[in-house]
Amino acid sequence: MVEVRGARKSYGNFEVLKGIDLSVERGQIVAIIGPSGSGKSTLLRSINHLETLNAGEIWLDGVQVNQPLKGRAFERHINGVRQQMGMVFQHFNLFPHMTVRDNITKGPIVLKGMGRDEADALAAQLLAKVGLADKIDSYPSRLSGGQKQRVAIARALAMKPKVMLFDEATSALDPELVDEVNAVMKQLAAEHMTMIIVTHEMRFASEVADRVLFMDGGAVVEEGQPSTLFTAPTHERTRAFLKKYL
Ligand code: ADP
Ligand code: MG
Repeated sequence: MVEVRGARKSYGNFEVLKGIDLSVERGQIVAIIGPSGSGKSTLLRSINHLETLNAGEIWLDGVQVNQPLKGRAFERHINGVRQQMGMVFQHFNLFPHMTVRDNITKGPIVLKGMGRDEADALAAQLLAKVGLADKIDSYPSRLSGGQKQRVAIARALAMKPKVMLFDEATSALDPELVDEVNAVMKQLAAEHMTMIIVTHEMRFASEVADRVLFMDGGAVVEEGQPSTLFTAPTHERTRAFLKKYL
């Protein structure tokens, strides 16, 4: 479903991604862990082309994301591709001047031409799924951080994405709000949503991921099944990193 080949990215002379390869099968859940500054966010942002790679290819379900198109043609292409990827960031970026319903329905209505009634029904259904049916008329300012993040997930799901990308979706939350967001992600996992999850929560990663990648210094140092990587890491850098968390 997602394929990253030889991804390289530099800011000036500083190479942030040093040739990343990543392959995510349909329905697979990949967790990416690693120290701050190792390039996790840059990799995720490159996958939906919020960052432009210096070299390498990104593919989504058989279509190259970073195609060598120019101008309007590329814009049309990338807008189409982005509709197929849901992204949830650390800081809830809900539209503050819109109700929860409108936050969720705007994408399907504007980008997919969905009718208002159908979009409203979809919003109600997705809010029920994330346990916020009663917040449909609320404004984001009235929600807790955990509730905002669950609305952000519902909003991303409204576009029926092929993959969901999570960049530390819970790391700005008070500890008691983390579980309610993780529970939604676990539910998506149970429904076989394809997901790439950047996280600092090792326990959550080991519970939800089929595969874990440890990144350090812009490279994938080690990857494997959670049961192996967390209990018997083979690289010294992985061991040193995990020691701080486990
Ligand atoms: P992580 O998500 O693993 O913490 P990032 O991908 O955010 O890492 O950042 C990797 C490195 O790239 C960091 O050293 C960061 O300072 C640098 N970096 C990220 N974005 C930019 C930018 N727009 N300009 C310059 N350097 C950047
Ligand atoms: Mg980051």
